[in-house]
Amino acid sequence: MAVPKKRTSKTRKRKRRTHFKLSVPGLVNCPQCGEQKVSHRVCPHCGYYKGNEVEGVVAE
Ligand SMILES: [Zn+2]
Repeated sequence: MAVPKKRTSKTRKRKRRTHFKLSVPGLVNCPQCGEQKVSHRVCPHCGYYKGNEVEGVVAE
């Protein structure tokens, strides 16, 4: 097993971690019901995707 030769300094560790951050999911308004939904996903409010109701999703 590979073992680090030197301890990672606080600075180095913190600099590396500047790159891990959360990204905001793409939110769009559903063309069917107008509610906000995540893009490229079936709408959780009306169960529609690309103008069709998708099977296997319980629409409210
Ligand atoms: Zn909808």
